[in-house]
Amino acid sequence: MKWDVIIIGGGAAGLFCAMEAGRRGRTVLVVEHNDEVGRKILISGFGYRVARQFNLKIIPPAPALVPLTLNAQDLAVFTPLSGVSIPAVVRCEGAEFAESILLTHRGMSGPAILQISSYWSRGKTLSVELLPGKNAHEMLAKMRESDAELATLLGFHIPKRFAQTWCDLYAPSKPLRGYSETEIGVIAERLHNWQVTPVGTEGFQKAEVTKGGLDTGELSSKTMEARRVPGLYFIGEVVDVTGQLGGYNFQWAWASGFAAGQYV
Ligand SMILES: Cc1cc2nc3c(=O)[nH]c(=O)nc-3n(C[C@H](O)[C@H](O)[C@H](O)COP(=O)(O)OP(=O)(O)OC[C@H]3O[C@@H](n4cnc5c(N)ncnc54)[C@H](O)[C@@H]3O)c2cc1C
Repeated sequence: MKWDVIIIGGGAAGLFCAMEAGRRGRTVLVVEHNDEVGRKILISGFGYRVARQFNLKIIPPAPALVPLTLNAQDLAVFTPLSGVSIPAVVRCEGAEFAESILLTHRGMSGPAILQISSYWSRGKTLSVELLPGKNAHEMLAKMRESDAELATLLGFHIPKRFAQTWCDLYAPSKPLRGYSETEIGVIAERLHNWQVTPVGTEGFQKAEVTKGGLDTGELSSKTMEARRVPGLYFIGEVVDVTGQLGGYNFQWAWASGFAAGQYV
């Protein structure tokens, strides 16, 4: 049998493209190497191989929306807190996310970390604001004459066990009136800008998406056809389009599949 359209991969993008092309009366073959179609993110690299065959530009693919790992020293400190969730603002490379961080056995996860992982690369440091929406310096300065311990005060705003561990590391807890003004300034700055340097990610196994992929400049934004290879289309995850958490990646897969389906 002769097919009008051959689609490699029956994922979100491929199936949407197949439906749309079929609706237009095109005969479509979907080639899926799994027993089931429509499972999540099972990219195999085949799309990149096809792109390379035609000398199309590829931005190096890497896992994104993925937990980040910590070095052995940091893990020794934070692993006992595995499962603790901390509200924070996490910043890296000009991006920032006000969500929560989840401490894990391998490092950090949770929405703030998954989001920032799309901007992080090896060697980069995250800036973590631990008292989001509060002026740490003002808060500590107001309590300067207090007998309350720093860890106790912080425990009203962040999980107590984390507050204690953080103080053990950076500001051995004592009554607030025991700190000098300079020390209060240093602690406030650290609470505002706690520097964490992950050593890696948990990889494609744990990633929700891939960042990088086929350079969008190679494609018509209307049809998804490769500008330099008539008849060859790229849709979904294989293209260098990465959405944040919240359904945007499925949206891209469906929308790009639908767009191509109108032209194949
Ligand atoms: C755990 C998890 C949670 C997620 N949650 C969300 C979410 O909540 N919201 C959101 O927007 N996105 C989410 N995503 C991302 C979303 O699943 C992907 O963006 C989307 O599935 C991409 O669609 P796609 O069709 O391009 O690729 P895929 O869904 O990966 O489909 C590709 C298909 O191609 C097949 N295939 C690959 N190579 C070959 C080959 N050589 N021959 C034949 N078949 C092949 C694969 O088996 C697969 O079925 C999540 C991903 C994961 C892993």
